[in-house]
Amino acid sequence: MDSNTPGGNAPNHFDNVACPFCGILCDDLEIGPTADGLKVLKNGCVKSVAGFERAFKEPKPQINGKDVSLSEAVAEAARLVKAAQLPLFGGLGTDVDGVRAVMSIADQAGGVVDHALSEGQYRNFRVLQTGGWVMTTLTEARNRADLFIVLGSDIQKIHPRFFERIVCNERSMFSDTPPKRTVVFLGEGLDQSEVKGSRIGEIVTLPAKGERLREILVAMRALAKGVPVQGDTIGELPRADVEDLVKRCSAASYGVMVWAPPSLAFPDADLTVQAAAEYIKDINLTSRFAGLSLGGNEGAVSAGAVCAWQSGYPLRVSFASGKPDYDTERYATANLLANKETDLVIWLASYTPDLAPPTTDVPMILLSTPALKPAKTPAVYIPIGTPGIEHDGLIVRCDNVVSLPLRKLRQSQLPRAADVLAQIQAAL
Ligand code: SF4
Repeated sequence: MDSNTPGGNAPNHFDNVACPFCGILCDDLEIGPTADGLKVLKNGCVKSVAGFERAFKEPKPQINGKDVSLSEAVAEAARLVKAAQLPLFGGLGTDVDGVRAVMSIADQAGGVVDHALSEGQYRNFRVLQTGGWVMTTLTEARNRADLFIVLGSDIQKIHPRFFERIVCNERSMFSDTPPKRTVVFLGEGLDQSEVKGSRIGEIVTLPAKGERLREILVAMRALAKGVPVQGDTIGELPRADVEDLVKRCSAASYGVMVWAPPSLAFPDADLTVQAAAEYIKDINLTSRFAGLSLGGNEGAVSAGAVCAWQSGYPLRVSFASGKPDYDTERYATANLLANKETDLVIWLASYTPDLAPPTTDVPMILLSTPALKPAKTPAVYIPIGTPGIEHDGLIVRCDNVVSLPLRKLRQSQLPRAADVLAQIQAAL
């Protein structure tokens, strides 16, 4: 409800705002106006404040650093795309309509599509594609879980309100006084500071190294099955601690193992996700347990979802042959650049300046929020609006089950990424 509805507040005062600045998409923010921008009045966090309250600028499009009109920038972008042998549509920090537009122009231009954060997502995709898994949603976890295991992920840093909203909620859908929860931090140096309040029973800290998590999970699966496991330590943790964790998993009425794929930044991390997925499947033979994958910042989940439903593959798809060609290694952004396979990068970053384009000599068309300052002047620069601030939009949440509407919160001349891409495509 905004202020213009009965019972609202002042003009341009918005309640129940969905926040696009990380993948959990909190939808309870209160945003008000200031003289020259927006202010987060309630339910913000460090990331949402940085996003909603950043300085409001509307720079002009540029060609090689010189101000031009939007139509001139679009014409030059179209000329570059048309001339390219293998354009890479990367970054992909945009909303559902933006990704749809990317898929359309990439199809026509014979380009590749890949999201800047898909390396993290592929730690999950490979497991989903090969073995399957049992996963839950934010809502299920919030209302049902009695045990959370945080798997090697500094969730507080990536999703600052996850613990507040999903783990520490005092009430659940089923009770005003739900039972207390146990939270296990299985990993080194994980911020526990926001796990507090009446809902939290026990907090268990098991400082395992990321590279040893797989070994620990495999041993837990074996122990749960009664298979002998040798040694006084398992993955450098005391054996007794690992055995205790197995007992907690077996005794939980609804356990949830939660991870954020970007945090699992060590070699073969997909095998760690696979070990978790297989253990969770086993527990479900006698009890109830699920995985919960977070991540999905910068519109990564929307990009993967739209690409999957339109091409059949979750990103890293080339249309150069006239049909979708899927290759998780060859069409990864880093590999395309390192192997000099792409001769033009079209980089989208409409949410935050953190989605900086790669440093490369390959010519670049940059469609980004004005907050992003590239290290190198792009061939074409077109500032675009942020979905959920300068224009309406739709974005898919990290648990993949909900797409949330994003609202325009202020007047702006900044165009939507989808509209700019459609104009470029029309000019091809
Ligand atoms: S936790 Fe994420 S979605 Fe929630 S307010 Fe912070 S940045 Fe926005």
